[in-house]
Amino acid sequence: DTAIDWAQVRADFPLLTRQVHGKQLIYFDSANTGQKPESVIAAVDDFYRHHNANVSRAVHALGTEATDAYEGARNKLAKFLNVRGDELVLCSGTTFALNLVAYSWALPRLQPGDAIVLTRMEHHANIVPWQLVAQRTGATIKVAELNERGELDLPQLYSLLTAEVKLLSLTHVSNVLGTVNPVREICREARKRGIVTAVDGSQAAPHRALDISAIGCDFYAITGHKMSGPTGTGALWARREHLAAMPPFIGGGEMIKEVRFEGTVFNDPPHKFEAGTPNIAGFIGLGAAVDYLSALGMHHVEAREQALLAHATEELSKVEGLRIFGRPADKAAVISFLVEGAHAHDLATLLDLEGVAIRSGHHCAHPLMQHFGVPATCRASLAFYNTHDEVEAFVAALRKVRKLLA
Ligand code: PMP
Repeated sequence: DTAIDWAQVRADFPLLTRQVHGKQLIYFDSANTGQKPESVIAAVDDFYRHHNANVSRAVHALGTEATDAYEGARNKLAKFLNVRGDELVLCSGTTFALNLVAYSWALPRLQPGDAIVLTRMEHHANIVPWQLVAQRTGATIKVAELNERGELDLPQLYSLLTAEVKLLSLTHVSNVLGTVNPVREICREARKRGIVTAVDGSQAAPHRALDISAIGCDFYAITGHKMSGPTGTGALWARREHLAAMPPFIGGGEMIKEVRFEGTVFNDPPHKFEAGTPNIAGFIGLGAAVDYLSALGMHHVEAREQALLAHATEELSKVEGLRIFGRPADKAAVISFLVEGAHAHDLATLLDLEGVAIRSGHHCAHPLMQHFGVPATCRASLAFYNTHDEVEAFVAALRKVRKLLA
């Protein structure tokens, strides 16, 4: 993608200039958490330096500034996702967002005999909350499986969508395989059958232009720290009718209109779900991240990452004994792999000494590891701020450390 000066873009990320173990850092762990541009760091710094106050409580100037900036960030994020601001609950991340659906939507509704459908490629954050709900309600969980390319087996998935299924919750993009699921088509099929849908967008929002309204889901969860924003920020988008019908998950200040010991009147959504002092500076930082990504253009981000992915896949495929997990037709820039005769953690540890940061382990996806029959994989995940030179240096380092392990 030549429309953008990617060297200039990379220079916006101060951390990427550092060294580790005396080597220039190559950060290939963006699916775990993304690095932050100067503008995001500056926005957080500016808030604490010049505007710090609590939101929605004080009439003084700083209180108004903080509230305006926080609500401004909500509106920026809403625009970025093509949804309404009053349908966007700000929270600490996808984990909280999915738990909010589990506890406020599912727990009061599900009964013995009901079923929840999940997929084999879910992150634990989209499995464990449903298990907790299933235990309490007597509902059961059914699992959609994968084909040999690491894509959802759609006919099998649709065969699971029977009358007792009340909810389908699935990831938009796999954090392990990079598989991009056709969520629009899947949500349409679920909706036809009256099944409510929740989509985990943790790994989609950082990499693709998102139009949540066009997906046709009921709930969509995102996490800010993977999309150039601060940690502890995220959001749940939900259809207005769900937010209106759902009881609050956490009680406290900010989420009420009037509190009496005889009973409390809750605030309107989304505030009803935002008890207590939020991560104000974090969301202002996330607003700056959204500005940054919007200025770049998500179609440019996607094209850049696809070029890096193609390059990395080609180079890795030449490494003898290296197996890449999943070959989906539509894939984000995440590559899980193993090298014959080498443990994932040993590879990652030796690569770290070469300055290369990749993740090794189960990637919070035990059921997917069970599917492949391995305890762990190595995962290189790329972002638009990475370079083709880094791809080459990574593969050269991999060849070197592999010899040490052989
Ligand atoms: N779902 C997926 C697909 C993820 O990759 C992650 C983060 N690894 C999460 C959920 C959880 O996100 P968070 O920890 O930010 O809540």
